[in-house]
Amino acid sequence: MPDSVARGCGLLSYGAIHKLQTDSLLKKNPHNGSIEPHIIPRAAHNVTRAEFSKSALKVLYRLNTAGYQAFLVGGCVRDAMLELHPKDFDVATDATPEEVKALFGNCRLIGRRFRLAHVRFGREIIEVATFRAAATLDHEDHHSDDEGRILRDNVYGSIDEDVWRRDFTCNALYYNIADFSIWDYTGGFEHIKEKRIVLIGDPETRMREDPVRMLRAVRFAAKLGFDIDEPVVRSIDHHSHLLTNVPAARLFDEFLKLFQAGNAERTFDLLWDHGLFREIFPATAKELEADAGFMRFTRAALQNTDRRVQEGKSVTPMFLLAVFLWLPIKKLAEIRRSEEKMSESQSLALAAYEVVAQQQRRISIPKRFTVPMREMLSLQPRFESKRGKRAMKLLEHRRFRAAYDFMLLLSETGIGSEDTARFWTDVQTQSAQERAISFQLGEPKGQKKRRPRRRRRKNPAQNS
Ligand code: ATP
Ligand code: MG
Repeated sequence: MPDSVARGCGLLSYGAIHKLQTDSLLKKNPHNGSIEPHIIPRAAHNVTRAEFSKSALKVLYRLNTAGYQAFLVGGCVRDAMLELHPKDFDVATDATPEEVKALFGNCRLIGRRFRLAHVRFGREIIEVATFRAAATLDHEDHHSDDEGRILRDNVYGSIDEDVWRRDFTCNALYYNIADFSIWDYTGGFEHIKEKRIVLIGDPETRMREDPVRMLRAVRFAAKLGFDIDEPVVRSIDHHSHLLTNVPAARLFDEFLKLFQAGNAERTFDLLWDHGLFREIFPATAKELEADAGFMRFTRAALQNTDRRVQEGKSVTPMFLLAVFLWLPIKKLAEIRRSEEKMSESQSLALAAYEVVAQQQRRISIPKRFTVPMREMLSLQPRFESKRGKRAMKLLEHRRFRAAYDFMLLLSETGIGSEDTARFWTDVQTQSAQERAISFQLGEPKGQKKRRPRRRRRKNPAQNS
């Protein structure tokens, strides 16, 4: 359809716009700014400024006063609409990064090829991005690999170009600070009300461009309780294998968002159902398919994580990673032990090293998590020995707490021994004296009754 027809897009349905956009993506630059947004005035939506941070509002007002367009976009508008109290705020503007920097003293430009402005207010950072043009396959500044994955996309554009590079319609609403209206080019406003995850453009192309969008579809569905639209599901079915092409470093960030946001169990279920979990944790998926106990254990760990997040407690990715990799590590440790003489702890540490190295090919896990994870796993056999000083020393180990939680979970899910779990739970609250009895140390030091010293009889020979 020629752009001139699209220009009168008041008459075009969103479906037609999608089709048009898809066609354009495959051929030339979409729309050239031709499609008008559907503007939802303040009176017709529920997004209040009270849902936005003061800092974000300050940035928007200052840009606007300086004569630039200033919008909030993406997750924060979506979450505000759903009254989910957004925490991070993305600003989109027609000001260039240099122009943004000139307006804010507390601003830093980041990114080498595509520059973003970070405006800092204490600990809060507001990200300000200049509108970017959609990816087209023939522009010299857009590069993609053989599978169609976008490697670079660096062209500034206008808002009506910026919108088409966004992933889902629910993430493509723009909140205009000039009059508090919402600009909707893709039908996202209605899709949010209908609780639907709809991909912008042709799902096949868009998933190829960036396979991480498959994980994002699942993440938003789990977080928001939305249904993933059928064409998106189909394209996930076709393209799940493309996740292996995504740089492992990028997937670690995504792993954190998937499993540490308070919806880990639901996210896991969706990843599993859509065949995505096995793409990011192949060794884990293989064991989960075959072992109901391991599935129980994994699920319990996910529930635990969600509970902790909901209670505002800290969670470390090291724990869940250890859970996911536990059975592959344990099985490999048994093989290594049958090959060579070594202790159970040593074999676990060695196997953990190997399994983690394999896993790193999919998701690169920083050392600050893999090292404590290995330590925690290799402590597991030590819970079995409950006699003597060395056994008691385990209580002082710096990984005791994590290792204990892990062991407890194994026991609660019927994999580890209940007696062992009870023993280590009890000893933690015991007095020194009680502990000495539990670990069968005999009488603890300093508590021994003093026996009267027997005077040594002087050697009569010496006296002579
Ligand atoms: P949340 O912050 O809850 O994870 P979000 O939607 O804000 O959700 P971000 O990763 O912060 O997600 O991204 C901000 C916005 O950038 C998104 O709403 C979307 O419009 C766009 N975006 C992010 N990642 C992609 C992607 N891989 N492909 C296309 N657009 C994306
Ligand atoms: Mg965000």
